[in-house]
Order: sequence, then C-alpha cells, then structure tokens
Amino acid sequence: MSDQDATTETEHTLRTPIVAVLGHVDHGKTSLLDRIRGSAVTAGESGAITQHIGATAVPLDVISNIAGELVDPTDFDLPGLLFIDTPGHHSFSTLRSRGGALADIAILVVDVNDGFQPQTLEAIDILKRTQTPFIVAANKIDTIAGWNPNENMPVQQTMDAQSERVVSRVNEKLYELIGELSDNGFSADMYWRVQNFQANIGVVPVSAETGEGIPDLLTVMMGLSQRYMKAEMEIDATGPGVGTVLEVKDTQGFGTTLDAIIYDGTIRADDTIVVGGLQGPIVTDVRALLRPRPLEEIRTEKQFEQVDAVAAADGVKIAAPDLDDAIAGAPIRVLRDRDRAEVIAEVEEELSEIEVTTQEEGVVVKADTLGSLEAISSTLEEEEIPIMRAEVGAVAPRDVRVAETANEPTHRAILAFSVEVLDDARRLAEQEGVTLFEDDVIYQLVEGYDDHVTEIEESQQ
Ligand code: GDP
Repeated sequence: MSDQDATTETEHTLRTPIVAVLGHVDHGKTSLLDRIRGSAVTAGESGAITQHIGATAVPLDVISNIAGELVDPTDFDLPGLLFIDTPGHHSFSTLRSRGGALADIAILVVDVNDGFQPQTLEAIDILKRTQTPFIVAANKIDTIAGWNPNENMPVQQTMDAQSERVVSRVNEKLYELIGELSDNGFSADMYWRVQNFQANIGVVPVSAETGEGIPDLLTVMMGLSQRYMKAEMEIDATGPGVGTVLEVKDTQGFGTTLDAIIYDGTIRADDTIVVGGLQGPIVTDVRALLRPRPLEEIRTEKQFEQVDAVAAADGVKIAAPDLDDAIAGAPIRVLRDRDRAEVIAEVEEELSEIEVTTQEEGVVVKADTLGSLEAISSTLEEEEIPIMRAEVGAVAPRDVRVAETANEPTHRAILAFSVEVLDDARRLAEQEGVTLFEDDVIYQLVEGYDDHVTEIEESQQ
C-alpha cells in the first residue's frame, strides 16, 4: 500500500499478471479455461468479466467470490488475473515480451490418468528456458474412483490425519506426478504443503468438468503473483504502450489487423506504433483500436466497438495500414514522444534476440512465428542437426532452391512448422529431391525428420 504514494511525474500502477495455460493435447487446457471463464461469469455480476481480445480478465473481486474464504481481497493489491485465451505451449513460446515470455505465470495442465506426455515435457522445457513460474493443474480428478470432492479438498477445511490418509490413498496418481516433476529437476508437492511457490511447484488437483479445485487454483495463482511477482507488475500506466502481437489477421472492414496484448503503458487511437515485421520494423499510424462488443450485443450490432485507449495489461485489436508483413509474437511499441530511431532500434533488437545459428550446410526451417522458430531451432541444435536457413513464413520455391544446395542427402530437407507450403514449392521440392516435413507439433516434426535420416543412413549401409 505504501508505495502507492510514490507518484512522481509517471503514474505507477500495478497491472494484472498474465497467465498462460500449457500442456499435452487432450489433457484439458481448453476445458480448464472455459471453466475458469464460466466460474467467473457465475460468481460475478453481469459485466464482471470484460471481453478482451485474445484474453479473459478475471478481476480480484470475482476471484474472491469464486474462492470464498480462501481469498480475502484486502490482502491483495494486484487487480486480478488475465488469462491468455489460446492454450498450448506453441502459443506460449510465441508470446514474447522484453527478454522472456509474455506470460508472467503458467498453468501446466496434466491429465492425472495420463501423466507426463511428450508435449508436457516440451512445455516444461520452455518453462525452464523462460524461467516462468508455474503451477501444475492435475486435471480430471473426477475420473479417479474414490475421490470425494467434499472430503478431499483439504484446504477448504482443517486437515486432520483422517483426511490426510484419504487424500494419500486416492491420490497415488498425484504423487506420481510429483515424482515426474522431480525427475525433471523440480521440487514439487501438493499445493497445501508448499510454503514457497517460487521454489517449489504446487500440484493442484482440479476437474475442469465439475469445477472442483478451481477456487484453489485461482487462490494459489493470486497468492503467487502477490507474494513474488508484485515488483514486476509495476508499470507506468500512462506511458507509451508496449505490447506483443498475438495474431495477424484480416478483420472485415479494417484489412490486416493485429490482435495484441499491451503489457505496459497505454496505446491510444491516435498513436504511431512500431511493429516487428518480416522485413524489419514497420512504422505506422493506428487507425482504430477495437474491442469485442459485450456478448448480448454481438448478434444485432457490429462485432467490434472502437475505443480511444487501452491500458496494460489488456488485449486489443489494432487496425493500421501496412500490417501485412507483421509477425505474430513480434514486439509493438508506441512512439508518442519517444525518439523514433531509438524505438525502431529497440524493436530491431528484440527481433534479432531470436537467436538461430545458421551454418553453410544444413536443413531449412520455416515456422509461423518467431517464438516457434526459436523453439524448433533450439530442439534441432540440441540434436546437433545443423540449420542452413531459418525464417518465418510460408515455404516458397526459393526455400527449395536453398535446400537443394545441401551436400549431405540428409540435409536436403525443409522442416515446416504450422506454415503453408506453396504449390510451386511443393512441385519444385519433388522435382529436386528435397523432402518436406510438415507438422504443428514440434516433437512430431523433428521425429519425422529423424526417421527420415535413419532411413537414409540404413539404405547407405
Ligand atoms: P486440450 O486439448 O488440452 O485443450 O483438451 P480439452 O479441453 O479439449 O479436453 C480434452 C477432452 O477431455 C475433452 O473431451 C474434455 O471434455 C475432457 N476433459 C477435460 N477436462 C476434464 C475433466 O476435468 N474431467 C473429465 N472427466 N473430462 C475432462
């Protein structure tokens, strides 16, 4: 509370922590997000959760309504939690902010019956690399025989020896998860035993199906943010906005637009912005800032309404000219009274932070975003597979031309992650003996390539 007095010429406020949901396919990421949104709508008054672009904001008073006695709102001065709507570690690794991941915290969803799967491990690698604090949601506990929601959520009641025994009897699976986390170098425990959520990973049993455990999950996230991340939430609310592009897409009546998360400052409808693009920074003037209309109005009116300004942390759709080359995952900076060259240099630097070491000889990698390009490249580097070219964008004939110059037969390959392969490029690849690998799961993409290499090696023996 005391640091709120320290208002100088800039206006320091605490922004909402940004939360991402990661995990293996079918483990319940989408269901969990839906359940959190649903709980918020039920617990809040109408209008309690605001419509955002690309994210859902759950304010503190709504969290406290959901969590009941678990959350006393007077203990907190962070405004709530902002959940990024697109689940999956692919989108997570795409969403960068200065020097790291856009999300401040992550929920790693693990199906209790299924345990750690390849994408769980992939997600853990990314969380480690970005040093993002996370909580494990051990999902689908409603499917474990013997689980009794009224008895087994110990934080909601005083934990006695009897309930502790019940918990440990039905929760073998949860302890298996804790074991798997420790195999991966994390100290973890059931969340009600964790004292320091930064040092230890808390495992929260939940059911996205029944909603059980959601209050506990929200409580733990709110506590973690308040205790360990408050300093990072301090922003200059009225300063020039800083954000990340979530998606580049066509919006009817506005042409190419950006769905973006603003995580510092404010963006205004009359601002000039600098955005990371395929050919370098794009400088352009905002034409309109758009937000979704409240749900009940959508059917009758236009889908979006224009707003004058959006302050961090928040999602917004930005309409502006010249956005065709903008890249998902790239930085956005508001120019306002800042030095133009300096801001452009900042964006350039952030774009070049995506380090991919390319060599004279190696494979070609194409990906949909900077974040995914980086993730694939680091996987390939770990496996000592050299890369000759790594770029964002569709596979074009010129990529095939590059790939065919490789001397090693195993290197005459293009790994395409979540991007289109142009027809001309596909034809040319076939003609020139360049093999195309296409996937939108990193480990499958690399596995496909590995199998191909094994095949070639075997045929050479
Ligand atoms: P995602 O691929 O990780 O986003 O997973 P989804 O949210 O699409 O869930 C995959 C499947 O698991 C769907 O059929 C869900 O209905 C189901 N599911 C998700 N959460 C739960 C849960 O808590 N309990 C049960 N019984 N089923 C669940």
